[in-house]
Amino acid sequence: MHEMSYCEGVLEAVERRAAGRPVARVGVRIGAIHRVVADAFEQSFQLAAAGGPADGATTDVVVIPVHGHCMDCRADFETPDPSPACPACGSLDVAVEGGDEVVLEWVQYVDTATVADRQAEPVPAHTHDGGT
Ligand SMILES: [Zn+2]
Repeated sequence: MHEMSYCEGVLEAVERRAAGRPVARVGVRIGAIHRVVADAFEQSFQLAAAGGPADGATTDVVVIPVHGHCMDCRADFETPDPSPACPACGSLDVAVEGGDEVVLEWVQYVDTATVADRQAEPVPAHTHDGGT
């Protein structure tokens, strides 16, 4: 499960910030490079969060676009596609930058009607492949 690795990082940040308060919903921004699928991320998050303060919390995922630069026509563009074709000329020779961030953006607690804790916090998106 590719989602699992940064999902756990997000969960750690959530639990640290919640300090035991029950969490209703979290807002996360994830770079397009990670090819996140919002539903799959939420499933992974809920699995990892089971039994903790974020048990049952839902997730609101926003994909951060990557910046593309076409090596053929030199067009610059933003896209949620991590391996894009140039929108101007259709070339696949595109250099991609950014879009690798994982950010915990806000946390909403069960006992508050509105988002109580809006402070963006980068989450280390280390992917430790091979480990379980
Ligand atoms: Zn182009």
